[in-house]
Amino acid sequence: MMSTVCKLNECTGCMLCVDICPHNAIKIQDSLDTYNAVIDKNKCTNCRICIDKCQKNSSSEFIRPIKWYQGWIKLDTMRKDSSSGGAAKAIAQSFIADNGVVYSCTFKNGNFLFESIDTCNELNKFSGSKYVKSNPLNVYKRIKNDLMDGRNVLFIGLPCQAAALKKYIPSKFNSNLSIVDLICHGTPSPRLLEIFLNQYNLSLNNIDNISFRNKGKFHISCNGKEIITKGVTDRYSIAFLNSLIYTESCYHCDYAKFERVSDITLGDSWGSSLSCNEKEKGISLILLQTKKGIELVKNSQLHLEPVDIENAINNNGQLRSPSVMPVKRKRFFINVRNGKTFNKSVFVCLPKQCLRQNIKELLIKTGILNLAGK
Ligand SMILES: Cc1cc2nc3c(=O)[nH]c(=O)nc-3n(C[C@H](O)[C@H](O)[C@H](O)COP(=O)(O)OP(=O)(O)OC[C@H]3O[C@@H](n4cnc5c(N)ncnc54)[C@H](O)[C@@H]3O)c2cc1C
Repeated sequence: MMSTVCKLNECTGCMLCVDICPHNAIKIQDSLDTYNAVIDKNKCTNCRICIDKCQKNSSSEFIRPIKWYQGWIKLDTMRKDSSSGGAAKAIAQSFIADNGVVYSCTFKNGNFLFESIDTCNELNKFSGSKYVKSNPLNVYKRIKNDLMDGRNVLFIGLPCQAAALKKYIPSKFNSNLSIVDLICHGTPSPRLLEIFLNQYNLSLNNIDNISFRNKGKFHISCNGKEIITKGVTDRYSIAFLNSLIYTESCYHCDYAKFERVSDITLGDSWGSSLSCNEKEKGISLILLQTKKGIELVKNSQLHLEPVDIENAINNNGQLRSPSVMPVKRKRFFINVRNGKTFNKSVFVCLPKQCLRQNIKELLIKTGILNLAGK
């Protein structure tokens, strides 16, 4: 029987165990619908470092937000390039201006990996939400090294990655490490995205950039080009938004709640009562858990507005509980494994949502609807 770092199929893919194993004995097994951190018994010496540090094996320290806002980065061009209000960019910008180093996710050579930057002209590397499981391999040790060199580090990533980082970094570095986590719906394996793209003769390895969203519109485009008709939601985004394709652990995510593992939590201010004009430009939801988080936001170029937190939670289910696994998810993965195309497999499971987009496409093509969907 295979030996795994945490319970079977509960791995989130945070990669901490792979990063810190002194014997290179752990590999992540990506089975499309599950991740598992598998231990090679021939290399393992039973030191248990992976088991002890795994964020799934012991509970994390959660902190209740003490302040909350909605807002956006003051510079319009930077707001435009961001998924919601550009809060991540604003915080990263002021952190760098204060001589800090920022680690976050970028798309490079076909992979969703993490890089560090310490100049503001590199900020665009991190722009935009990548709706896929990113890979923080090598990040944990690099962050520790930077902290040991006396640098201030800001990490921006998914909540499970933030929890792993907190488990790994000794508490003596607490004042030099700031953590921003994202409200997270769940993440699919990047192999699924590859299967989706293959239908259009595209591959992650052959594209330079990929965008999942333009503000409220979820739509994948590669190298700046649309894959399907502009204004229509593609099948990958439909599957993502309807929670069909995440890895199994996401449906029992420990971090989908109001209490957080970070200094600052960012998401979309869904359900905001601000004007349509501001909503179209993008508004971030900003939760602050620590004094450090409050200071960071205060020092950044963010326009802040009050937010009704009950309303924000009601419009953002992941602040209450994990996404619910659809009954048809199993069928989706059986179909994909049996060679049915990604798009057809989504259609079988979510026919109404797909038909709605088919009709929208027809209406856009015939000019009855414009690209704003009006
Ligand atoms: C998989 C996923 C699911 C999400 N689900 C929700 C949700 O249910 N509700 C909600 O309100 N918000 C959700 N978000 C957050 C939302 O999409 C925005 O990222 C957030 O509002 C910050 O927007 P911004 O304009 O400040 O970010 P930007 O200025 O566009 O920056 C985004 C930051 O997030 C980092 N990032 C992007 N993708 C990833 C990734 N896959 N892994 C690690 N880091 C990443 C980037 O590197 C960058 O630093 C999700 C994000 C992701 C990646």
